[in-house]
This record gives sequence, C-alpha cells and structure tokens, in this order.
Amino acid sequence: MGIDIGSTASKCVIVRDAEGVKEIADKALIPYGAGTSGPARVIEEALAGRGFRKEDMACILATGYGRNSIEMADFEMSELSCHAFGAHFLFPGARTVIDIGGQDVKVLRVGESGVLETFVMNEKCAAGTGRFLEVMARVLEVKLEDLAALSAQSTERVDISSTCTVFAESEVISQLAQNKNRRDIINGIHRSVAGRVSGLARRLGVAEDVVMTGGVARNEGVRLALQNELKTEIKTSPLAQYAGALGAALLAFRKLGG
Ligand code: ADP
Repeated sequence: MGIDIGSTASKCVIVRDAEGVKEIADKALIPYGAGTSGPARVIEEALAGRGFRKEDMACILATGYGRNSIEMADFEMSELSCHAFGAHFLFPGARTVIDIGGQDVKVLRVGESGVLETFVMNEKCAAGTGRFLEVMARVLEVKLEDLAALSAQSTERVDISSTCTVFAESEVISQLAQNKNRRDIINGIHRSVAGRVSGLARRLGVAEDVVMTGGVARNEGVRLALQNELKTEIKTSPLAQYAGALGAALLAFRKLGG
C-alpha cells in the first residue's frame, strides 16, 4: 500500500503482484490533506473497496507532506522519489516529470528505471500551484473541474501579468469589473500558470518524454497551455493525481525485495 498525504488531498493506492505483473488492486482519494480526517478516511476507503484489512498489506509506505502522521506505515519516503516511480510506471519513457500539487510545483528528471536523478522545486509561494487555481476559481465562481472546458472556449486574449496570487486575484477582479469574459480570463490564468511552471522546467532542462502528474494534471487547460509554452508533447493519465501514492506502493514492493 502506498499512501500520499499531500497539502490538499490524501491519496492511497494498493498494488498487487499478479503473476509477475504489478497491477492496481484498489485506490482512493479524499480531497483533504495533512492535518484533516483525509488520511484516515483515504486508507479506510482504499481497504474497504475490495474488503481488504490492514493485515493483508505486505508493506505500507507513506509519502507526501503529511507522511509522518501515518502510524501504520512501515516506511516513509520523499514524494520526489515516489512521483518519479509512479510516473515511470504510467509512462516508462518518462524523463521529465512536472508535478503540480496544491502547494508546490516540482520538476523531476527521471532515469530509465524510474529512479529520481535531480529536481527543481517552487515552494513557499502559491504562484503556479493548485492553490493559485483554487483561489482564481473561487473569485470567478467556477468549479475547478469546469476551468478547462471554459478556457477552451476563449476567443479573446486576456493576460494576467501578476504571478503573485494576491495581486493576480485583484487583477482578475479588475478584469471582471471591466466586463471581460470569464472564459478569456481563465485562459489567461492557465497561461500564467504555464509561464511560471515552464520557467522552472527550463531551469532543469526539458528531456522527452514529458509527463505531468499531481492534481493540476486533471486540468486539461493547464496541460495544453504548458504544452504550448514548452513546445513539446506533455503526457498525462487519469491516474496522474495518484502518481505519488502509486510510486509509494511500488517502492513498498522494492522494500520487500520484489
Ligand atoms: P497535494 O498532493 O499537494 O495535496 P494534489 O496533487 O492532490 O496536491 O493536487 C491538488 C490540486 O489539484 C488542487 O489544488 C486543484 O488545483 C487540483 N485539482 C483537483 N481536482 C481537480 C479537478 N477535478 N479539476 C481540476 N483541478 C483539480
């Protein structure tokens, strides 16, 4: 079992070995992270799906910002290694992994076997993160899951020039007051996130295949804007937000020597 306790969401993945092939037996996601009921609920939900008990788990590995709080974990590991491993499982050709979570952005260089080689990270600032998008969605009175579809309907370019979340929020309010269309503002927000993240990615160097993980990968508008900015294909998967938990479960296998 791999458990990824993020700042914003708790994720849990159970992997089993089916005659030499690793497959996902169950997974769960609760949109509450460290310090909430999310961690306990996500474990309960992942186990309950197939009627597993904690004792059925051969090894439990916890990762993420809140990994220290998981008492039942046998091991803890940094989310950097776990995301690298999870992304490699989803896309064996992955060399650059762009992980955008609730509170930070990480760009990882991954080796052929999925091992983390190096990384750059943006922390202590919400610019370019999931939190930035959450703040903007709230001001615009739009659900997070609707941002991509609205952005795709944009017809006029509106630039959001501030990267700072507080200033960008004021800028969005001012654009709304000038009767700018929400879909154009959202498109500008996605380009702003892409600009910020691509700057970080260029610092590391962008090697193909480029894979996006983390919850923001669920926002197709950000993926497309980033693809446009980096001028390269960016792959993602419906399991992108589970990449850390998936990598943690696969590393739990390693701990057992298999
Ligand atoms: P963390 O690991 O830091 O808790 P996650 O990788 O789970 O963060 O990502 C959380 C972020 O994912 C949220 O801040 C939000 O921006 C984004 N997100 C979550 N669900 C969706 C969705 N359905 N559509 C678009 N974005 C989403």
